[in-house]
Parts: sequence; C-alpha cells; structure tokens
Amino acid sequence: MSSPAGCLRSRSGGAMTRSTITSTENGVTRRVYVKTYGCQMNVYDSVRMADLLAPLGFSKAERPQDADLVILNTCHIREKASEKVYSELGLMRRLKMAKAERGARMIVAVTGCVAQAEGAEIMHRARCVDLVVGPQNYHRLPELVAKALRSGGDGIIETNFPAVPKFDFLPEAAAPEGVTAFLTIQEGCDKFCSFCVVPYTRGAEYSRPAMQVLAEARQLVRGGAREITLLGQNVNAYHGKGPDGRVWTLGELIRRLAELPGLARIRYTTSHPRDVDDDLVAAHREVPQLMPFLHLPVQSGSDRVLAVMNRRYTTSEYRRTVERLRSARSDLALSTDLIVGHPGEKEEDFRDTLDLVGEIKFAQAFSFKYSPRPGTPAASATNQVPEQAKSERLAALQTLIVTQQREFNLSCIGRVLPVLFAKAGKHEGQIVGRSPYLQSVHITAARYRIGEIAPVRITAASTTSLSGAIAEAFAI
Ligand code: SF4
Repeated sequence: MSSPAGCLRSRSGGAMTRSTITSTENGVTRRVYVKTYGCQMNVYDSVRMADLLAPLGFSKAERPQDADLVILNTCHIREKASEKVYSELGLMRRLKMAKAERGARMIVAVTGCVAQAEGAEIMHRARCVDLVVGPQNYHRLPELVAKALRSGGDGIIETNFPAVPKFDFLPEAAAPEGVTAFLTIQEGCDKFCSFCVVPYTRGAEYSRPAMQVLAEARQLVRGGAREITLLGQNVNAYHGKGPDGRVWTLGELIRRLAELPGLARIRYTTSHPRDVDDDLVAAHREVPQLMPFLHLPVQSGSDRVLAVMNRRYTTSEYRRTVERLRSARSDLALSTDLIVGHPGEKEEDFRDTLDLVGEIKFAQAFSFKYSPRPGTPAASATNQVPEQAKSERLAALQTLIVTQQREFNLSCIGRVLPVLFAKAGKHEGQIVGRSPYLQSVHITAARYRIGEIAPVRITAASTTSLSGAIAEAFAI
C-alpha cells in the first residue's frame, strides 16, 4: 500500500473515530469504550474488536469514564503518534484512579501499530496500561481481557506474529452502522519502503481466502451495506486462495463480489502502482460496480527519490499505469499520497513532484512532510532535509493540490452523478451522500431515502464538497 507512513488513510482526514459496544455477563453490565486513531484498517479492526467482545456482554460507553474497558486502537501514521497516545494514557490513568477510589476497576488496553512498535515501552511509561495487543493478535482480546480482569494488574503484552492468521478466529461480522462498510482482504507488506513502519508493525503480506471475504461481504450486505471498500496495506497485491484451489487476484475477487445482489458499489484501497496488473485494469473496464475513483500513491515525482524510497517504480511507469487505467475507464479520477522532504530530496526533485502533480491532475491528494519512524531505513539517513525547507515545499504543494481539487469539484457542476445517500445532514431536511468520486454531496431529501442511490444534478461545489438536487428524470 502506500500512504506516507504506510497506512490506509482515514477519509475523515486521519482524525480519530469512536466505536462503542455494550454487554452483560452474569447479570453484570460491562461497558467498553474504543477510541480509534488513523486509517480505515484501524476502523475495521475496531469494529471487529467490538464483534469479538459482544459475546462477553460488553456494551457501549460513549465516554471513557463510563467504561470498564478502554481500548486505544493506535496508529503510527502521523508524526508524534506515540506522544498522542501517551498523553491520552495520562487521562486514562486519572480516570482509572478515580474509578479505583469508588471501588471499581477499569482495564486499559492499547492496540494497533503503536502497540506493536512500542509494546514494552508503553508498559514501562504508562503504568495504567493492563494490555498491549498488536494488530495481529486482537482476536485474542476476549481471553486477554478475561486474564487482565483476573490478574492483580500485571501488564500483559501480546505482540507476536501468530502462525494462524487472526481472520480465522473472527466471528461473523455484525451489521454495519451505515450503508457503507470496510472489509479487510489483505494485510501486511513485503515492500519495505524506506519511510514506512507497516512491514514491521503489520508483518508480512497476507491475503484472506476468497471464500472468507465473500462470506463477510454477504454478511455486510445482509446488514445493509450498499458500498464496500476492500482494505489492505497493499490491497492490489491480493492473492487469496479461491474456492477452486487457484489463487485469485484482486480483479477476480471484485468480479465475484459484483455478483452479490444488493452490493451496488465496490472500492479498494490502498494500491501500490507496481501491482496494477492487466486483470485489475480490465475489472475497471468491465465491472460497473467498481467506482471510477482510485487512490494510487505516487509519493514523489522524482525518479531519484523514488529509488531512495525503494518504491520500485519510476515516474514513467507510474504515468503508463495511469494511462492504462484511464483508457480502461475514461471517467476515472485519481487521488494520491505525497511526501515532501524525504531524506536526500533536493529542490529539483521537489520541482519534479510539482510537475507530475500538475500533469496527472489528481482529484484529491494527501501530502505530508517526511517525519522519521524509528526503525525504518530513512530515519537513520544522515541527509535529512531541514524543517524550514520541508514546510516551504509542503505549502507550495498543497496550494497546487487544493487548486486541482477545487477545479475537479467545479467540473462536476451541471453533471448528473449517481449518489449513494448515506446519512442525515446537519440541517433540517438535508441528507448527505457520496458521489462515485467520494465527494460529499448535500441535497434536500427525506431521511427515508438513506441507502438509495439516485441521480443528483450537481449545482454547486466547494473545495471539499458538492451540493445538488435529485434528478430522477435523468438516466445514469
Ligand atoms: S512499505 Fe508497504 S505499506 Fe509501507 S508504504 Fe511501502 S508499500 Fe505501502
């Protein structure tokens, strides 16, 4: 895959999301509060943790102070990610002490990529933590939580990479909270980009068997999902075992998913440019449910920097991949990830990045200043770029990105787009949908229409969203 720190991007801008669960065991209600940081895969993992804990009788807490179990599902994508976790743990320590004074107990668990990267350090620095569980071990949460409840407060660290993948132990997926859902099909990475922690925190590349994926997709659709986003750190390297004994590619999996009645839209993220094979390109041409919007991280427009990053493609190869995709699907729009100030990046390298971004015309892009992740090759490079230069480059790049994003959104005015109505809007009588390009679309319509896909004539656009009116008469 390929975001700057090697994680899937949160569509809400990398912010935190919360999911909650509720339950009763032996007549005693226990509540869990889950705080999710970062990427879509963490969002998926948090939902699955909830699925695992539900049979233990855990129910949802809206606030950590109301919870018997607090889970911080952490992410290493952002700079100072672990500092944010430690700061949050300071709050948890105070809440835990307050509970103890009332004779109650609160279990604090840290999961996700920071847990994997800093397991023992977390236990050492934050004494309030009862459990540290790596991303490949959260299927053991029920057993580990029970153990923590029995123990006198000795910390438990579970960060091994198990021989049997966690997916084999996950329960049936619960109904999604809305009409869109994530489904992890692949995890881990063997590419070892210079700046990325994923190969160390999520482990080697693994693809779930196709039947397991299809069964979970069916379950999500039964629960109301109309759009599924397939997740993987390197999702288009998918090579899961098919029911016929053959290895299925992502293209093949998408074709089979498209046969599921009720599943209207399919997306996948995050892709590596090197793994866009002909079958996947053909799927973009042939499968109408596959949305014409693709996140294809390029990271840099300089061949020299791409080589230092160990990205395994050149800018010419990236351009060719984009051409292949656009010739398969002429309405395809692209988003990307970009890092400025990777060790060794010179001004001319950065100008190459600006040129490439100007040429490809991304509909969206996520850009970041390089920041070292301990243990990665780039972190120990001696030719780090000064902070001032990184800041200036990022500002210039973001100016270009915002301009392109606004132009793309403005180009939608007057078009009739199929919009999936996803949730109620902030204003009375308003609902918010998703365009094929993942833009938020604000319209006036009754709430009962949530879940429908209807043609919407776009009447206005800003840098971040569209608005329009239902245009039932138009064919789409
Ligand atoms: S190492 Fe893997 S997950 Fe990380 S950025 Fe590179 S391709 Fe993506």
